[in-house]
Amino acid sequence: MKANTRLKVKIAKNAGFCFGVRRAIDLAEKIAKEKAEVYTLGPIIHNPQEVERLEKQGIKTLEDPSRVESGCVILRTHGIPFELHKKLEKNKSISVIDATCPFVKRAQNIVKQLSTDIESKDKTIILVGEKVHPEVIALVSYGNGKCVVVENIKVAQKYKGSGDINVVSQTTQTPKNFDSIVKELKRRYKTKVHNTICKATLDRQKSAEKLADNVDLMIIIGGKNSGNTTRLAQICTVKTKTYHIETVDDINEKWFKNIKSVGLAAGASTPDWIIKEIERKIKEIDLR
Ligand code: SF4
Repeated sequence: MKANTRLKVKIAKNAGFCFGVRRAIDLAEKIAKEKAEVYTLGPIIHNPQEVERLEKQGIKTLEDPSRVESGCVILRTHGIPFELHKKLEKNKSISVIDATCPFVKRAQNIVKQLSTDIESKDKTIILVGEKVHPEVIALVSYGNGKCVVVENIKVAQKYKGSGDINVVSQTTQTPKNFDSIVKELKRRYKTKVHNTICKATLDRQKSAEKLADNVDLMIIIGGKNSGNTTRLAQICTVKTKTYHIETVDDINEKWFKNIKSVGLAAGASTPDWIIKEIERKIKEIDLR
């Protein structure tokens, strides 16, 4: 079959698994080979297809930890609430393996320290992030009741507090959202900034944005429940026509009509095998 070279498919320089996710998956697979009962508390990463692949290796996702009486519980990359972590560790019939990403741990430690430091004890901790995201829920639990979550500039504009502020970020926020909130808070309060956005997130955002500038269409690959993938889609939508998909089955051939170039970008929790499957499928469409 003769290849039609009309459609160019480019992949963002930084796409797919980051250090933290790779580390957590390797750890889970290693433990699954050694132990019989292996659980992750909530999905280990925000990618349903990769979670399903791990389930086939015997790694079960658990929503309610009280149902486990024995075995090994792996804590997900984006952490779990402080109290729950302590409770699990007290349970001597299970072993807890902490796969929380070191960058998330760093953010948790900063929040914890700010909530107990004598110097900071009267200051509010503004957490820039999504209220319902597991990472943010866990971060708040380290804040000793001092955290206020601010999702965007509109919420920041409405914020009314009485004292000075420390600002910390969810690791996967965009610098644009973080900076706009910091600017607004600094205008009204004495504010100290602790930027905890991780480099893997920044690298993926920058390379997706750069690619979006140079193609007719962007396909963002990753879990619909993945915050960092959703933000890649938000960034690219501003630049060019963009679709956020999870698997090859989500591809609509009509998208590629009259298109000369397609860019692929993927969140930090998207495995290479899904990116490759999608690249292959798009190239096949081009052959017809
Ligand atoms: S995106 Fe960053 S913080 Fe989150 S798991 Fe990956 S390296 Fe860690």
